[in-house]
Amino acid sequence: MATLDHDVIVIGSGFGGAVAACRLAEAGMKLLVLERGRRWTSETYPRDVDDAWLWNQDQPHLFNGWADLRTFSDMWVAAGAGVGGGSLIYANVSVEAKPEVFDQKWPRGITHAALKPYYDRVAAMLGLAPIPDNQLSARYWLMKEAAEKCGWGDRFHKVPLAISFDPDFDPERAPARADSHSKPWINPHGVQQGTCVHCGNCDIGCQVKAKNTLDLNYLAVAERHGAEIRPLHLAMMVEPIDGGYRVHFDRLDGGRRQRGSVSATRVILAAGSIGSTELLLRSRDQFRTLPRLSSRLGKGWAFNGDFVTPTFYKGRKVSPSHGPTISSAIDLLDGTYKNQALFIEDGGLPNLAAEFIRQRLKHLPGGKLRQLWEGLGAHADVQDPLDGLMPWFGQAVDAADGELYLGRLWYMPWRRTLKMNWDYRASEATVNAMVEVHEKLSAATGGTPFVPPTWTVARNLVTPHPLGGCNMADSADQGVVDGHGQVFGYPGLHVMDGATLPRAIGLNPSRTIAALAERGAERILQTA
Ligand SMILES: Cc1cc2nc3c(=O)[nH]c(=O)nc-3n(C[C@H](O)[C@H](O)[C@H](O)COP(=O)(O)OP(=O)(O)OC[C@H]3O[C@@H](n4cnc5c(N)ncnc54)[C@H](O)[C@@H]3O)c2cc1C
Ligand code: SF4
Repeated sequence: MATLDHDVIVIGSGFGGAVAACRLAEAGMKLLVLERGRRWTSETYPRDVDDAWLWNQDQPHLFNGWADLRTFSDMWVAAGAGVGGGSLIYANVSVEAKPEVFDQKWPRGITHAALKPYYDRVAAMLGLAPIPDNQLSARYWLMKEAAEKCGWGDRFHKVPLAISFDPDFDPERAPARADSHSKPWINPHGVQQGTCVHCGNCDIGCQVKAKNTLDLNYLAVAERHGAEIRPLHLAMMVEPIDGGYRVHFDRLDGGRRQRGSVSATRVILAAGSIGSTELLLRSRDQFRTLPRLSSRLGKGWAFNGDFVTPTFYKGRKVSPSHGPTISSAIDLLDGTYKNQALFIEDGGLPNLAAEFIRQRLKHLPGGKLRQLWEGLGAHADVQDPLDGLMPWFGQAVDAADGELYLGRLWYMPWRRTLKMNWDYRASEATVNAMVEVHEKLSAATGGTPFVPPTWTVARNLVTPHPLGGCNMADSADQGVVDGHGQVFGYPGLHVMDGATLPRAIGLNPSRTIAALAERGAERILQTA
C-alpha cells in the first residue's frame, strides 16, 4: 500500500473543523487543515470600504475576502471565509439546543443528554460567559422591557457569549468604547487576548481580540500539537484511493489558481453547510469520484428561521452599535406563540457599518434613498435614525425543505453551478409568526417596525445559519452521514459541520455543531 501524506485531512476550519483538528492532533495524528480563506489577524481584519470584504466562489483567486455571501434565487446565505471560519464573523452566542429538538429527525443515540458532555467541553474551550451586569447595553434593557410588557418576562435571559469581559469595564469611561480600554491577558491555551470594549464590531472581527474565536483556542491547540494549517487552499474534489482519500485543491496565492492534491487515510469535510454539500455534490455528480453517495445529498436544507425586523424608536437611544452584537434572548421555543418555535434576540450593527450608512445616506443630494432616510428619521431621532434603530432578530424551526444541487446557468451552460431550490410556502407561517412577535415587541415599547419588503413582497430571505445538506441519519436511505458524521458507503470519509444537522434547531447553531464534532472526533479515536 502506498504511503499517504497525512493521517487526517480536515477541509475547513470553522466550528466543526477546528474541533476535529484539535482533538485528533492532540491524540498524535499527523493532521493537515485545508482552509480556503486567509489567516486574518486583528490587524488585518477588513475595515475600509476598499478592503477585501467579500469572498467570490467563482473567482476566489481574485476575491478571497472575509465573508461569503451566496445569492441563490430566493435565499441568500452568509458565511465566514478564513482560518477560524464562522467564529471570526459571528455574534459569539454559544447556546445549547433544546432537548425537544432531538425528538425528531435525528439518528438514534443523539439526544440532548448524550450531547451534554460535549456541549460542556465546548463551553470550557470557548470560555463562555454572559454579559456582566455592570455592562448591559441599551438593547438589553429594551429587550427586557419588551419581554415583560408582552408577558414573556420569565422567558427573557442573557445568552452565553464567547467573549472575554473585564469585570471592571465601564462602557461610558472616556473616550467611550476606545480600544485603549482593552486589557491584555493570556488565555488558557497560551494565546494573548484582550477584553471587550463594547465597540459593537463583533460581526466584522474584534480588533482587540476579546472574541474567543477558534484561531485563539481550538486551532491554536491543534497547531501546538503539530497540525499544519494551509490558508488559501480551496478543496475542489475528494477521490478514494488505496488506503484512504486524495483531496484535490486549488491554491489561491498571488492572484492565481494552482492545482495540487494531498492524500490521507481519513478526510473530514468541515466546509460548512454550503461548502461540504457542494464538495460532495461535485465529487458525486461532476467528477464522479464518489458515486455511492446517498440520494439524500443536498436535501433537507434549513435556514434556521432567521429573520431581522428593523424597528425605529423616537426619543429613545437604542445605539445598535454599542456593546456586543447580541447579549440576550426571549425564549419562545416551546411554541407558546401560534405553535411556532421562536427564539428572539437583540441584533446589532457594527460601528463601522453604521458610520458608513450615515455618511453615504445622509449626504445624498436627493432622490429615493435620501427620502427613505428622512422617512426613517420621522420614526426615530430626526438627527440620526440609526441611533434609534433596534434590529429585532430571531431564529425559528423552519420546514427544512431546501435542496442544494448542481445545475447550469443559461449564459454559462458548460459550467455546473451550485443552485438551491427553496420555496417559502412550507415556512411561511413560521416567518410570519416571527414578524408578528417582532411587531408586538416593538409596539409594546413604542417602536415603529419596518418589515422588509424582501419578505412581505418578494418572499426572499437571508440567513447566516445555513444547516443541512449532508444530513445525519440512521441509514443511507434517510441521510448522507451516520450519527458520528461518517459518510455512508465511504469508511474514513466524514462530515463534521453544520451540513450534518438534520433539521433546524431554532437557535444559534455553532455550539451544537462544535459538540457534534467533539463527539465525532472522539468516535474516530475510539475506533482508530
Ligand atoms: C454574521 C454572522 C453572525 C453569526 N452569529 C452567530 C452566533 O452568534 N452564534 C452562532 O451559534 N452562530 C452564529 N452564526 C452562524 C455560525 O457562524 C455558523 O453556524 C458556524 O460558523 C457554522 O460552522 P461550520 O463548522 O458548519 O462552518 P464554518 O464555521 O462556516 O466553517 C467552514 C469553513 O470551511 C471553509 N471552506 C468552505 N469551503 C471550503 C473548501 N472548498 N475548501 C477549503 N475550505 C473551505 C470556510 O472558509 C470556513 O472557514 C453567525 C453567522 C454569521 C454569518
Ligand atoms: S463588542 Fe467590540 S470589543 Fe467586544 S467582542 Fe465585540 S468586537 Fe470585540
